[in-house]
Order: sequence, then structure tokens, then C-alpha cells
Amino acid sequence: MTLESEIETYLNKPISNATDLQLYDALLSLVKHKAEKLPEVSGEKKLYYISAEFLIGKQLGKNLINLGIYDEVKQLLAKKGKDLSCVEEKEKEPSLGNGGLGRLAACFLDSIATLDMKGDGVGLNYHFGLFKQEFKDHKQYEIPDEWLDGKNMLKKTDVCFPIELAGKMYTSRMYDMDVIGFKGNKNTLHLFDLDTVDESIVKDGIDFDKKDISKNLTLFLYPDDSDDAGRKLRVYQQYFMVSNAAQLILKEQKALKHDLKDLDKYAAIQINDTHPSMVIPELIRLLMQEGITMKKAADIVSNVCAYTNHTILAEALEKWPMDYLQEVVPQLMPIIEGLDYAVSAAFHDNEELNIIDAQNRVHMAKMDMHFGHSINGVAALHTEILKHKELKPFYDVYPDKFNNKTNGITFRRWIMHADPELADLVDETIGEDWKTDENALEKLMDHIEDESFLGRMDEIKHQNKVRFASFIKQKQNIDVDPDSIYDVQVKRFHEYKRQQMNALWVIWKYMQIKKGNLPQRPITVIFGGKAAPAYYQAKAVIHLILCLAELINNDPEVSPYLKVVMIKNYNIAKAEMTIPACDISEQISLASKEASGTSNMKFMLNGAVTLGTNDGANVEIRDLVGNDSIYTFGRSSDEVIKLYETAGYHAKDYYEKYPEIKEMVGFITSKALLKIGDAKMLKDLQDNLINKDWFMTLLDLEAYIEEKEKMLGDYEDREGWKRMALVNTAKSGFFSSDRTIREYNRDIWHLK
Ligand SMILES: *Cc1c(COP(=O)(O)O)cnc(C)c1O
Repeated sequence: MTLESEIETYLNKPISNATDLQLYDALLSLVKHKAEKLPEVSGEKKLYYISAEFLIGKQLGKNLINLGIYDEVKQLLAKKGKDLSCVEEKEKEPSLGNGGLGRLAACFLDSIATLDMKGDGVGLNYHFGLFKQEFKDHKQYEIPDEWLDGKNMLKKTDVCFPIELAGKMYTSRMYDMDVIGFKGNKNTLHLFDLDTVDESIVKDGIDFDKKDISKNLTLFLYPDDSDDAGRKLRVYQQYFMVSNAAQLILKEQKALKHDLKDLDKYAAIQINDTHPSMVIPELIRLLMQEGITMKKAADIVSNVCAYTNHTILAEALEKWPMDYLQEVVPQLMPIIEGLDYAVSAAFHDNEELNIIDAQNRVHMAKMDMHFGHSINGVAALHTEILKHKELKPFYDVYPDKFNNKTNGITFRRWIMHADPELADLVDETIGEDWKTDENALEKLMDHIEDESFLGRMDEIKHQNKVRFASFIKQKQNIDVDPDSIYDVQVKRFHEYKRQQMNALWVIWKYMQIKKGNLPQRPITVIFGGKAAPAYYQAKAVIHLILCLAELINNDPEVSPYLKVVMIKNYNIAKAEMTIPACDISEQISLASKEASGTSNMKFMLNGAVTLGTNDGANVEIRDLVGNDSIYTFGRSSDEVIKLYETAGYHAKDYYEKYPEIKEMVGFITSKALLKIGDAKMLKDLQDNLINKDWFMTLLDLEAYIEEKEKMLGDYEDREGWKRMALVNTAKSGFFSSDRTIREYNRDIWHLK
């Protein structure tokens, strides 16, 4: 049957007569049907990647690519007067993640299936995901992000497990989603849920009764943890996730008649950050129910489990009070206390190593490090900081457990789907090998002096800028000039990522323009990202940016030279629209604070030039492209770590010493901004910058302005810039998640 007749069977009418929504339904059925027929990856040993987040993005386009029929479908639709991108827009984006960590899990699933490794994801089926971001009065508001409309890849299964929460029994249900590898076979993402969850209890934004677990358990990812009930809900969710995972693993292994004493021969578990840490005591508990001693069970589980650390921000290393655990998961407490006892006995009650601290809090990461066989950081610098600073006591006793796995991104989504014209140009120039052999991208370097090639790459960038401009005009009614320089910072809002530094630069540029120092070419500063609902400072930064956008975009003296765009509800679809259009990739976190970053890699792949600190994977980007194709500035991670150790940074000194800084920070409460914004919020933000500034914005501000000016000037050397863009794309092969996954497998999982 031809593709056309196949689609028309689902449609029951000619393609040319169908609406985009009908076409979406038909293509979804087509993909499901084709996925059904794909073989599952086979192998002796299986990986279970457990993660609280899977930020998988819309599935239709990616699945068509991985099935190898995207272009064919697109051309067929075009012939009938239909646009596949418009059809793809009809899909609701699953909002099952927060940021980089969740996106990493999604890229990994794609690479694991593509590399023909047997490996499933295990997580939760959040009904409303994180939240949907709206703007009102230049502020962020949160509303439920409804994505479960029945028109997606999820399959309800009849797999159910008994789960004990606070002494009461509940019955879970597993939903499955096929993970289709690139031109190959498939694995599965398992998302667990409770049938009794009740979406109608959500009222007024994202508020709901936090007490009734049977109704609220899987409503939201990261429910508000500013009170006890919210924090306990997070523990309920975590245990629910890992108990399901552990029961699924044992069920599958028993079905295969594997001896559970040899579990490490047949199963590997990757613990993605500390949210799934309770899988360790839970698996031990379940193995003990199978008649295995605790000591033996702990050994088995240690050989199965490996832990990935994603952050050195102390507040993100979870510690749960014992009395929460006693209430929520009393069945685990004897195990956790037993593990803690074994650790104290082995290390002479060393407070730094103990799982349970003197305040009776259970340190999840410490449990992972003692009772897992591998501890990895996510970029070279990050792993070094873990080994020699943050986790030094553990590195001292377990040096062989530590290893680095620099993050990666899947090229199937981040160039083939996001930037198809660039992908086609690469195909035409060096063949298609790079799609599965990322090192092949470097062959593009042969074209570094090839003017016509550079011109074509630049033309594609321009088209992507036009595409972004019409998108943002349509969605947010902002006029953007595609000939302006696109300067982009899109990521979660957090003080360590320092969007506030970029906002201060916007103020500086605004004042320069007012003084008559006009830029050579207009600049469009593009922000996007969500702030955690209870994170006041991050929300204040969003407020400042929205106020600046209002002021600047409506000022006829300034707006021809400078525009500010804040993308609403930044998600994967918006990332795919924005990143290929970018000229300057802002990666300006305080050195030592960004574990890796992955948007930096997406931008590089798409030919943007990085303006960044020597932090996370930026360091590895610099090593690959060389100092001539990246712009770096700011204090080093060593210097920053020393400033924290000696309490040597005082924002006020910088504020007082540099009149320019005083003027920029002062502008936050200028008459012009107070007319637009909320006086208290702006004042609080300003006070914080002058008196606290925990992430040292003012420390690097002057160096940032200087480097950014240099970069904007260099943009006018158009030939030089095009070469930098090419170098960035050509050298980005290392950041393919295929490379990352091969390393995980080689060093940790040993699947084949
Ligand atoms: C890649 C990605 C991130 C991670 O961005 P960082 O800059 O590495 O923090 C966050 N959100 C979305 C939607 C992404 O695609």
C-alpha cells in the first residue's frame, strides 16, 4: 500500500479535503501502527533509566523522522496543499519535565534505542506536567498544562502494582509509550499513574488540596514544596515511582526465569539525580521478601544501581527528614537505618559520610554513593568539582566509583527536526553518515574557505530568523527585524544562570542608545524560560525583563536599534523554533554553578556562537572550537569557589566602585520602569543585587559588557562570523547523545 492510500484509509477521505487536526489523527494512527510492527530491542541485559522527568517534546515529527518517512510524508502533504508543520502543531506537548535534566533523559532514550541497546525509561504520568506559563501585568502566572487529550502515543496497559503509601495500599497503573530508534527498533517509556487521580481538585491557578494522595498524587511535577504537605507529596511521588520501577524490574526478570541473585548480570539501573534514590532501599526490601539476606541484597543492588549527579547547588541535594519518611514509607525505614548503620560501622561514624545526619535527615545522594557502583558528573569541570570539592569525602573513599559523562543531545531532534534545511545542506555536502556517526560532522571543516557553502549556511540562518520573526509576531504580536542580531538566552530562570546580568546589559544598551551611541546593527535580545512558582527572585527577574520589553519596544527612539522579546511558556517546540535562529548563544552562568548545560550544545550544533563563562560544558565547547570561535569572559570556577570559601565577594563594593554599575542597577527603580512595573518587586530585586547577589552578578558585569561589545562588533565581519558558525556546527559531533550513551554503556551499564 502506498503511504498516500495508507493515510487516506485512516482519514476516510482524500488528504486534500482533510483538516490539519484530522491529518494529525491520521498520522498518529500511522505512527502507532508502524511502531506496533517494529521489533523490540533484544539483549541479555536491560537498562532501566529512572527519572522524575522526561521532557520528550512533541512526538509526531520525531517519530516520523526515526521511522525514516518524515520527508516522504511532508512532500506528500505539500503536494496536496498541506503543511506538515501545521499538522505537527496540533499535538499537545507532553509537559513531563522541567529543564535540562528532563530533556537529557529524553535525548538518552532516543540514543539508547538508536544504538540498539535494550533500555526502558521509568517515570510518572503527570496529568498537568510542570505548569503552563502566562504573563499578566508583566509577571509570570502558572496554570495547569493540560496535555492528556487522548491524542498521543500513550497506551494504557493492564499492568498494575500494589503500592503502600503511609500504611495504605494503592494500585498503580502503567502507561507505555514506544520509543522508536532511528531507522531501527524500539524500547519503551513506562509512566506510572493512579486511576483515582482527580483533575477537578485543581482550583485557581495550580492550587489543590495537597493532602488527598489518592486524588493528587500525579497531578503535577514538582508540586510546591514551601509547606510540609507539599514536601511530603514529593516523597509520595518519589516512592510511588521507584516502587513501581522495582516491581516492574523484578516481574520482568522473574518472567525470564533469571536468578535474582544474578540481577546485576541482567539489569542496570541509572538513577537520574536524587529523585529516584529510594529505589535502592525499595529493591533491597523486595529482594529480602524473596528470601535474600539484607547484606546480600544490598550487594546485589549496589552492583545494579548507578547514580548521576546533576548539580552542586546544595539546596538541590535532597535531604528528607526521617519523620516524613517514617510517615510516608514506614516500610523503608528499617532498610534505610540498616544501610546507615552499615555505613557508620564501616567508616567509624564519620559525619560527612553518614546517610542520616545529626538532625535526623536522610541524605539521598549519600545513599546513592554508598550503595551504587558508579557516581558520574555531567561535564568534565563538574565532575572535577564533585571529586575535589563538593563530594570530596566520597571521592576519598570511593575513587573508582567516580567518572565523567559529558551530556549530549540527540541530533535527530536538534538538527534534523529543528533545522531541516541545515540538515539537508549537511547531507548534500558530506553525505548522511553523520546522523549515526557524529564524528563525520567534522568533514564540514573542509568547506571553511568555501564561500558558496558559507553563504548557503548563512542564508539558512537568515531563513530561520525570518521564521522566528513571523512566529513571534503571530503568537505574541512583537515585531522583530530578521536582519538584527539575535542574542538568545533561553533556559529555566535561576539566579545562578544570571538572566539578571543580561537584563542589566539591556539597561546599559538602552542608556547608550539614549545617549546617542547607536549600535552598528539592531539587536534583538530574546529571553525564554519559566521560574519555579515559589522562587520569588527568579520571578522578579522575569518581571524586570517584561517591564524592559514594554519600555524599550514602545520607545520610538530606542526600538529601531534594540528589541526585547520574552517568549511565553518556553518549551521544546519553542526551543526548536528559537535555537536555529540564534546568532549569539548566551551561556553566562556563574562559573562552577552550571553542571553542564545542554542548550549550549544545541546552539553550537545550529551554528550559533557562544558568549559564555568558563562553566559546565562551555569549557569543552571552547576546547573543541578553539578560542577564535567562542567568546568567554568572567571569573574562573577556582576564583569563584575561593570567593565563596572566604566570603570574599561583596556586591556593594562593585556597586559603589563602578558608576556605570550604579547607574544600571539604579535604573531598575527608575521612574520609567516604576510606571510600568510593581514597585515592591523591582525594589526587592534591586536590593538583592546590591546587598546579597549570591550568584555574583556584579562581579562579572563589566567583563560581560566588554566581551559582548566585542562580539557585536565582530558580527560585522560577516565572512569571519560565517566561518565561526561553521566551526561550531562542524565541531559539535562530540555533543551527540549517541557518544554520551556509548560511554555510559562502556563504563557503567555493559549492556553489550
Ligand atoms: C535544552 C533545554 C533546556 C536546558 O537548557 P540549559 O540552557 O542547558 O539549562 C531547558 N528547557 C528546554 C525546553 C530545552 O530544550
